[in-house]
Amino acid sequence: MSILTVGSVAYDDIVTPYDTRLRALGGSATYFALAAQHFTQISLVAVVGEDFNLADEDLLRHKGIDLKGLEKVAGKCFYWKGEYLANWNDRVTHDTQLNVFEHFQPKVPDNYRDAKYVFLGNIHPSLQAEVLRQMNDQPKMVALDTMNLWIKETRQDLIDVLGGVNVLLVNDSEAMMLSGQNHLIDAARTISQMGPQTLCIKQGEHGALLVQGDRIFIAPAYPLCKVIDPTGAGDCFAGGFMGYLAQTGDHSFENMKRAIIYGSVLGSFTVEAFSVDRCAGIDMAAISKRYHEFVDLCHFHE
Ligand code: AMP
Repeated sequence: MSILTVGSVAYDDIVTPYDTRLRALGGSATYFALAAQHFTQISLVAVVGEDFNLADEDLLRHKGIDLKGLEKVAGKCFYWKGEYLANWNDRVTHDTQLNVFEHFQPKVPDNYRDAKYVFLGNIHPSLQAEVLRQMNDQPKMVALDTMNLWIKETRQDLIDVLGGVNVLLVNDSEAMMLSGQNHLIDAARTISQMGPQTLCIKQGEHGALLVQGDRIFIAPAYPLCKVIDPTGAGDCFAGGFMGYLAQTGDHSFENMKRAIIYGSVLGSFTVEAFSVDRCAGIDMAAISKRYHEFVDLCHFHE
């Protein structure tokens, strides 16, 4: 089944310990859509400015992503500048310019108001809530991603939207910040009382944790020798996770284990090149091959 997503479409300046890339195509919705389109049809709701390149629009269109909900208005695209420190896990945001997102009112295309899967990508929680408000019925699954900025600055808006969310995807420090807990499992329990019954907690090079009530599953990270640019890993993780769930329509905990591995596969490809270069270049054969490598990585006899 198809997925409706809202989030940022952006140009990023990215600084890593080895290299710099300016005006790279990025944004939470861009990465999510490019990862999830491997599994199912995606409709993207976002806004871009006059500086949005035709080549970037063509890339998304070429991948079969439905852009009816992508508005073009006067002004500049969302801009973000981030720098990765020597350990790769710590990231500093030097600049965030909302630009055209400042006055954005998302409009869900009519034919997507019945979508059964909705991914609320990282963006101001009031925009995430506005998309949910426009749905005709409660979708089968709503997943949400957010970040420290929104947890700190728009906490109540975020808590309000979480009431209608089934799955929350955050990294470990964000889970602790949102819950006020110092331990991940306690954090997951506290957050589940805010709405989301399922939590995917991303831990960068240490893998990811799936928590649903008393059930816990641990996914390793793919052992990569070389990381080029971690930007978008979280959004592509979400794309692999939700893409697989929407494709299979099976929300059991066993199937969510497979989904979190597909998330880890897509996240691991993304960091192998700058911007969307790698996640836009892979095919299903490469994804399946790495998925089976994950199966081998986790498998052992009692
Ligand atoms: P990730 O590495 O998965 O956290 O995603 C990074 C992407 O998120 C970049 O391409 C940025 O353009 C985008 N981004 C950074 N900060 C924000 C923000 N405050 N709201 C929405 N998108 C953002």
